[in-house]
Amino acid sequence: MMHSLQSRVFLLLLILGNLHCLYSQEVSSFCGTSLKTQEASLQNMIGIHHFGFRGIHNIPVQIHMVLNDNGGGDLGLLKLRESICTLNQDFESTGFQFYMEDEINYIKSSKYNEHNYDDGLEMMRKYNVPKVINVYIVGSPAGNCGYFTYQGDALALSKSCLGKNSHTWAHEFGHYFSLPHTFFGWEGIDYNAGKPTADYQNQVFTQIENTDRRNCLSQADNFCDTPPDYISNRWSCNDSDSSSLVQKDVNGQTFRSDGSLFMSYAIDNCMSRFSDEQKFAMQNNLTNLRTDLDRAVTLRSISTFDNALINPSDSSITNSKVRFSWNPVANADGYIFQLSRNQPFTVLIRNLATVNSSIEVDSLVEGKRYFWRVIPFSKMDFCTQGSASFTFEVNSFTSVGNVTGSKDVNIFPNPARIGQNIYLDRINDTEKSNIRFFSEFGKDLTEVTVKNTNLINTYIQTEALQPGVYFIQINQKFAKIILTH
Ligand SMILES: [Zn+2]
Repeated sequence: MMHSLQSRVFLLLLILGNLHCLYSQEVSSFCGTSLKTQEASLQNMIGIHHFGFRGIHNIPVQIHMVLNDNGGGDLGLLKLRESICTLNQDFESTGFQFYMEDEINYIKSSKYNEHNYDDGLEMMRKYNVPKVINVYIVGSPAGNCGYFTYQGDALALSKSCLGKNSHTWAHEFGHYFSLPHTFFGWEGIDYNAGKPTADYQNQVFTQIENTDRRNCLSQADNFCDTPPDYISNRWSCNDSDSSSLVQKDVNGQTFRSDGSLFMSYAIDNCMSRFSDEQKFAMQNNLTNLRTDLDRAVTLRSISTFDNALINPSDSSITNSKVRFSWNPVANADGYIFQLSRNQPFTVLIRNLATVNSSIEVDSLVEGKRYFWRVIPFSKMDFCTQGSASFTFEVNSFTSVGNVTGSKDVNIFPNPARIGQNIYLDRINDTEKSNIRFFSEFGKDLTEVTVKNTNLINTYIQTEALQPGVYFIQINQKFAKIILTH
C-alpha cells in the first residue's frame, strides 16, 4: 500500500502544478463531475489504506425535489422510489444502503431547476442539510445527467436520467465516495486510434493507463482492477459489455473499454458493477472521511400487500362513486393510489399519495372499466412490490325487472323479501353459467346466493342477505334487485 500512497502523492504534486487549467475544461452531457472534484476526492484519500470490507452501512440521504416557480415538474414518488431501489441494488455488494432520514424537501425555483454550475453551487450552499448526503433532483443539472461537486458537497441529478433502468445515481454516488472515472484524465478529449497514444499525454490530465498492470496504481483512476479506458463520451457496448472502439495503449497493446463498470461512460444497459478496489475505496472514504453519515439504524422492510383484503374486490361492478380500501401495510409511511382507464396505468384518473388506507372517488363514468393499484412507500424500503392490479366496471343499473336487452329472462319477485327465492325464468344454458350477483358496493356474492339446478328454475337464495340494493349480472347485462324485510 505504501507504493500506492507514494504514487498518489506524486500524482497530487503533478496535479497541483496544473491546477490552473482544470476549471472550465469538462463539458459533457452524461456526467458533469469536474476533474477538480475528482482530484480533490482522490487527494483526500491519500494515506488511507485500511482496506477490507467493513460491513453494512445504512446511509441517510436528503432528497431535494426542485420544481419550477409554479410548482410543476415533480419527478413523482413512484419514479423516485424506483430510482432509489435501483441505486440500492447497484450498491448492494458495497455494503451501502441508502434511506431517507427526513421528508422530501420541495424547492420551487425555476432558476435552480434548470441551473448552471454557479447557481447549482448557490442552491447547495443554501439548502444543504448537515450530516446526510444531499441530492438535488432537477430538470437540468448544468446540461448533464448529473454531477457531484466537491465544493457544494452534494449531487445534482436530472429527472430525465432517473428511473428503474438508470445507473446515473450509482455513478454520481461513486464520485461522492471518492471514485474518479475509469477514463480519468481523458475528460473532454476525443480519442482517435489513428493517432499515436503517447502523443495524447500532453493533453491527458493523468498518466495514461496501459493494459500492462505494472504502473496501474499511478495511472488514470489509480485502480488496478479497472482496465484502461480512453472514452469520455457516452458509448454503447457489445454483448460482453465492451466498447466497439478498439483502443491502443502507449505500448501499442490493443484493448476495449469495460462498460460493466458504473464509473465508465457506457450506457445504462452495459453498467452493472463497481470493482473490488473501487468498493474498498468507497468503504474507506465512508469510514475515514464521512463519519458524519454513520447511523445506528435498522432499515425496516415494508410488509407484503394483502391482495385479498381490498374493496371493491377484483372484477366488481360498482356505481359511479367508489370507496377504495385496503388492509394497512406494516412499515409503510403511506400509499401511492393509482386509478387508470387502462391496464398499463398510463391513462391515470388519479395518481396520489395518501397516509390513509382508503380513498373515495366519485363521478366515475358509467359503463366504463377501470383499473386500480396501491404502492406502499416508506423512507427505508424502495423495492417492495405493491398490490396486484385490480379492475372494476361502473354501471348505471337503470333496468329494473327484466335483464336489459334479454327479454327472455324474467326475474321475480323483485322487490323480494329476505328469505324469498328470486327466480330467473326462461334462462338458457349459456346465461346460466354466466350469472353473477353483487352487493350495492360491488362485493361478489355469487357463490353464496346463485343456485343453478336443472330440475327447477335457477334462483337467488336471499336468506343470508341484508335488506338493500343488489345487482345481478347475466353475461354483460345487469339488473337491480331490491330486498326488503
Ligand atoms: Zn462522472
